[in-house]
Amino acid sequence: MFDQLAGNARVKEVLKRMLESGRLPGALLFTGEEGVGKRLFALEVARALNCRTPRNNEGCGECSSCKRIEKINYPERDDADEWNQIIWTDHPDVGLVVAPKRVLRVEQMRQIEKEANFRPFEGKARVFLIDEADKLNDASANALLKVLEEPPRTSHLILITARPAMLLPTILSRCQMIRFAPLTPDEIETHLTKHKLVDSKTARIRARAAGGSMGRALSGDLITFTSQRKAMLKVLNALVISQNRAELLRSAEQLNEAQYKDEFEERLDVLETLIRDAWMLSLGVRPSQLVNEDLLSELQPISDKLDPSRAGNWILHIEDMREQLIVNINRKVTTDALFLTMAGDVAAQKRPKVR
Ligand SMILES: [Zn+2]
Repeated sequence: MFDQLAGNARVKEVLKRMLESGRLPGALLFTGEEGVGKRLFALEVARALNCRTPRNNEGCGECSSCKRIEKINYPERDDADEWNQIIWTDHPDVGLVVAPKRVLRVEQMRQIEKEANFRPFEGKARVFLIDEADKLNDASANALLKVLEEPPRTSHLILITARPAMLLPTILSRCQMIRFAPLTPDEIETHLTKHKLVDSKTARIRARAAGGSMGRALSGDLITFTSQRKAMLKVLNALVISQNRAELLRSAEQLNEAQYKDEFEERLDVLETLIRDAWMLSLGVRPSQLVNEDLLSELQPISDKLDPSRAGNWILHIEDMREQLIVNINRKVTTDALFLTMAGDVAAQKRPKVR
């Protein structure tokens, strides 16, 4: 049942309404940051459709269908062939694909097309999750379009991504987008304590340092995250308070140091949540709604001096940079350019609107 999942009350309402009306779209696109529950919500949709004893159109969570849908049979790490195929749950009508080597492959999409055309083997609907849908390339996106154009009535595709801007417009236009919000510290804390995942004191600390991501609250890598936030807060300070360009360039340099190479995109994510928080504060949002509520004393002076329209532009600049990173291998130059553009606040380039 959706109530068992943390946060995103609005998403729960929307999905419940779709299920109740019996008009769940053939293709859904779940967007939102990492660790906010997109995959769990998608599996919950699959349960609702296939549950043997549904309650109010939701999965009961206890019948054998519900229980088997929970279990995804991920292959062994080095089993390349298996990763290139549909990874099934213990239920024969529910499976997912992930990008084996940073790219979703044409063969995977062809397999989905073939499987989606079968009637359900056991349940009432076949459900396929396409995780990391931003990793579709032109060829695999085109292969997927064939299913999206005419999805069989008993099959549903759920595309999942933290970066919807990377999807082709032809894909976007055929999916109904459902946006997930970052979780609030309260939502994370409640979830951690309700399910007795950690003791209440630890729950409080983790919830407040998790940057809106349940995945992070659970992963335990809070030390890395804390230092990432500290570094990105420095960037925001240099942009708004000190307006110190030398400091900005030093930060850009640090972001590109070898030891942080694997954290590059995570750090951009962190910067984005900090900007969004300062922006929200400047619009008068309650601190409890912030992702980084524990940094209120640092964020407040920034938001006091922040022009809200600048913050909006910055987020667009960061998204643009993410797109450039795919083709542009010189991160250092791109990061310098990003920070200086943000400092100079040139209007964001025109980019296609995501809907
Ligand atoms: Zn059930």
